[in-house]
Amino acid sequence: MKQIQLHDFNGGIHPNENKIQSTTLEILNANIPEKLILPIAQHIGAPSNPVVKPGDTVLKGQLIAQGEDFVSCNLHAPTSGTIGEISLQPVPHQSNMTATSIEIITDGKDKWLEHSGLENYLNAEPEQLIKLIQQAGITGLGGAGFPTHVKTSIPASKIDTVIINAAECEPYITSDDMLMREHSQEVIRGIEILCHILKPKQCLIGIENNKPQAIEALQQAIDKLESNAYHIQVASIPTKYPSGGEKQLIQILTGQEVPNGGLPADIGVLLQNVGTAHAIYQAIDKGEPLISRITTVTGDACQQPRNYRVLFGTQVKDLLAQANTNLSKVSRLVMGGPMMGITLQDTNTPVVKTTNCLIAASKHELPDPAQEQACIRCGMCTQACPAQLLPQQLYWFSKSSNLEQAKAHNIGDCIECGACSYVCPSNIPLVQYYRFAKGEIRQANADKLKSDGAKKRFDTRTARLEREQAEKDAKRKARSEAAAKKQAEKKAQEAANPTPAADSNTVAEIDIAALQKKLDATKLGIEKSKTKLAEAIASDSDKVEILQGALEKAQTKMKDLALKIAQAKKASKATPEATDPASETDPLIALKEKVLAAKTRMEKAQERLNMAKEQNLDTVDALQMGVDKQKAKLDAAQKTLEEASQ
Ligand code: SF4
Ligand code: SF4
Repeated sequence: MKQIQLHDFNGGIHPNENKIQSTTLEILNANIPEKLILPIAQHIGAPSNPVVKPGDTVLKGQLIAQGEDFVSCNLHAPTSGTIGEISLQPVPHQSNMTATSIEIITDGKDKWLEHSGLENYLNAEPEQLIKLIQQAGITGLGGAGFPTHVKTSIPASKIDTVIINAAECEPYITSDDMLMREHSQEVIRGIEILCHILKPKQCLIGIENNKPQAIEALQQAIDKLESNAYHIQVASIPTKYPSGGEKQLIQILTGQEVPNGGLPADIGVLLQNVGTAHAIYQAIDKGEPLISRITTVTGDACQQPRNYRVLFGTQVKDLLAQANTNLSKVSRLVMGGPMMGITLQDTNTPVVKTTNCLIAASKHELPDPAQEQACIRCGMCTQACPAQLLPQQLYWFSKSSNLEQAKAHNIGDCIECGACSYVCPSNIPLVQYYRFAKGEIRQANADKLKSDGAKKRFDTRTARLEREQAEKDAKRKARSEAAAKKQAEKKAQEAANPTPAADSNTVAEIDIAALQKKLDATKLGIEKSKTKLAEAIASDSDKVEILQGALEKAQTKMKDLALKIAQAKKASKATPEATDPASETDPLIALKEKVLAAKTRMEKAQERLNMAKEQNLDTVDALQMGVDKQKAKLDAAQKTLEEASQ
């Protein structure tokens, strides 16, 4: 094994390891329980979207929830069975919250969906391999569950060094250790695939020196490689907590520090957990999605501590039962390690992609936290902090909800390792204060993002409405300008080419002239009829009645003609000076029109009066007077007409 120059990080502690208990037995496949509970958010990013419904039958490895966003992850059936409820179930979380989960009622057949891996990953392009990793639903198995396809999508040109995190520094946890001991070749194969994607100059496997068997197994697997093109090396590092922290391991192996607020890629490094490398091997070489993981089941209450390959969704109670756990002895049940893990309240909580350990601890083993005392400003927390923070200051800022100061003192760089709490002589649960403050900051950021988004939407809408109004105004202006231009052009054309062509006015004039001619003839006829009638009356002729009838007929015809002439003149917009032949020739017509107009006015006044009465308005009296006046006018007009007609 080539010696690699190692560096150290500030702080750190040496708690009791308690690893030996779970490494005496080989890894065992955990039983398939009667049901599995699979949360749709077992990763960082958007929850996956269920693609099955209750009653569906599924095969092992079948997709049951799709990660639709890029930062999301697919979820597959860990065994064959029938989909039960899709409902809220307890999930691993500090606050013992529930979340949407898919239930599978297992059928015990464990029947696989047909699948196959690549014959030779070397023939595949990196993009194809990343796609397969994405389809397999692989997340980082060592930390928070960041989707692996996202992490590996970083441009290869940016990465000089790939670091495989096999430190497993937290007490009790031995799942990576046992994986490396028993599946070292597969792990190295997965690392080779990762290197084929990222093309680093070197690949370092960082592993604490308290795992000699794993170190040896990995070295043997590397020695068997035909060509170690990417210089994969095992780097045995001193045992110190938390050497497995991302920034701490990078510092140990490269001597470089990840910049504040930056990413390992900023200094050319990409870090993956050793279990993730194994999952990559399974996905690419065997075509198997991520459906299970190795989980350490340990603690004083557990009579058979060991590592199990556990199907995701297996409830903690089933795993504890298989490990012959004396539940009456369990004082605290921890998922994860004693430093960074979470205390479970509900044994129905399922094992998920990030569950590396389950500690069924006795009271003696993990005693209840001692009474919190006042800070004595001893500074031990500062000495222990691997992130070079000032835990004591962060404690004050978190306790007083002074979030601005907490941020200014880089609380975001706190990896929640718990080293400060571990050394604090005043038993102050420092990490809990930091977690609370970080949660508050996250919420405040989310709220700000939300309000910024709302403001942005409002501004965008206002701008859109203003733009639309401006466009409408511009169109309206353009239309009116076009109409004016057209009108001007028409006038200019008419001026340039006066045409004698008959327009509507001319036609109307022709009609009026014809009517006038008829009217004149009728008038003449009436005069003659009157003369004849007078002679007949004088001679007491028996033709009086006939002549009388003819005269009346002629007079009616004359009135009609006069009316038509008046209407034709009106239609042809005759000039105001034009004389009204009807009124000129026969005042009866004008009187009739007056009667008609008076009648219309009176009807309208009556309508208004009726409405006022219906609505019980106080204008009724005034309107009644108006109606009376109109009625009087109508009566007067009718009387005048009658007199004129005689
Ligand atoms: S270790 Fe505890 S008591 Fe000492 S300074 Fe830090 S918070 Fe205060
Ligand atoms: S929990 Fe945070 S503040 Fe405390 S030692 Fe770890 S990194 Fe430092």
